[in-house]
Amino acid sequence: MLYDVIIVGAGAAGLAAAQELRKQNITNVLVIDAQDYVGGRIKTWYGWGMPIEIGAEFIHGDHTATWQYVEELNLATIRADGAVRLVDKNGHSMSAEQKQAYDAIMESLAQSGAKGISVADHIAANKDIAPIIKQLAEISVGDYEGGDAASLDSGAFADMLRETKDNGENFIPVGGYQPIVKRLAKNLLVRLQAVVKAIDYHEQGVAITLTNGEVLYAKKCIVTVSLGVLKSGDITFSPALPAKFQQSVKKLGMGNAMKLILRFRDAELARELFNYADGESAALQTITNWWSSAADPHVLVGYCGGSRAAAVLMMDPQDLIANIMADLGAIVGRDLQDDIVAYKIARWDNNPFTKGAYSNHPVGASLSDHTALTEPISERLFFAGEATALNGNYATVHGAIESGWRAAKDVVKTLE
Ligand SMILES: Cc1cc2nc3c(=O)[nH]c(=O)nc-3n(C[C@H](O)[C@H](O)[C@H](O)COP(=O)(O)OP(=O)(O)OC[C@H]3O[C@@H](n4cnc5c(N)ncnc54)[C@H](O)[C@@H]3O)c2cc1C
Repeated sequence: MLYDVIIVGAGAAGLAAAQELRKQNITNVLVIDAQDYVGGRIKTWYGWGMPIEIGAEFIHGDHTATWQYVEELNLATIRADGAVRLVDKNGHSMSAEQKQAYDAIMESLAQSGAKGISVADHIAANKDIAPIIKQLAEISVGDYEGGDAASLDSGAFADMLRETKDNGENFIPVGGYQPIVKRLAKNLLVRLQAVVKAIDYHEQGVAITLTNGEVLYAKKCIVTVSLGVLKSGDITFSPALPAKFQQSVKKLGMGNAMKLILRFRDAELARELFNYADGESAALQTITNWWSSAADPHVLVGYCGGSRAAAVLMMDPQDLIANIMADLGAIVGRDLQDDIVAYKIARWDNNPFTKGAYSNHPVGASLSDHTALTEPISERLFFAGEATALNGNYATVHGAIESGWRAAKDVVKTLE
């Protein structure tokens, strides 16, 4: 069987690419994925009888590709921005001046972040701002990028902020991301648990070898595996990918991020906590960013990235929970130990088909490295996925969707 197009990866990018091909009447298309579900880094878990997001949770902007599906499916969403309440180490809201100082740091990053200077160095240059505010700013950027302020490029971060400033506000789909994944996968031919190990592309077409030895053939191939998988070399390309492509794969970083999801019987903690930064508390130094699950206000989601995520993931889960509960209890001024019903740790660093959370920019990398990954190769190979998203939309679902559409359109041009 010769397919017109084989798409490697049934995440948002791969599914969106297949839908775009369908729209253009190219239906002899196979989507394959190594795992046993569609959605990739969008993974809604129903273990507690409600939609809990293991990966993507927010829609970053109502002017982005994802919103098209929210409208089409008439999905209920809640606005996720609102007034962020910054809480100090005693559980008090930060003063208006402290909030202003924090906003000023973020604004100065957006205005004057510069290539080759780390986010931490850029923040450190704000001389008169209190250490706790600087720490909060470092943590916010680190969590967002899945990295550490000391090693992230402030220029790339500034470019991302500038490029995405008109994306709109953040929302959470109340019923989770699953309906969007279902819609993206509708009417597609998808084969699961098919692990690609080699892709040979040449004048006649593309041969895709699976780990079970089977070889699949197509005229064109869209590869949407994560940057982590590309970096690992788990898939060999023959001939080797162009040097410029490989350089950008190397320069970009694959960030790490984890979630600690806590289910309480009574407490609705997100109402009480926001972006807590405390130089004295080990556990909360690592998880400072909390929000309420859209499914149930008794579910609190903690998020952290970079080496803080790695540190949390190394802790014994029982110790982690005990520390976190003690710290959260101290902030809200009551014992929460008897109120916690269950917890779940969501991680992506040990998933062999992701190898991390999403792409970011170590010092020296820039948005142009994403662009370098969009170049079609020999009119046979096309790359999509969040790491190939343009205009600062990397690390998002909408960026992945848009990249899939873009790659599909590039394929169509070569089939004409
Ligand atoms: C913890 C976390 C939180 C996030 N939060 C948000 C958020 O709130 N909002 C937002 O917009 N984005 C968020 N993101 C980012 C978002 O999830 C991703 O940008 C997006 O889902 C990536 O889609 P993709 O199609 O590019 O990649 P993926 O979803 O990773 O799809 C690639 C697919 O390729 C498959 N694959 C890999 N190797 C092989 C192989 N050898 N053979 C066959 N198949 C293979 C994988 O199984 C995978 O399904 C988050 C991500 C994480 C990890």
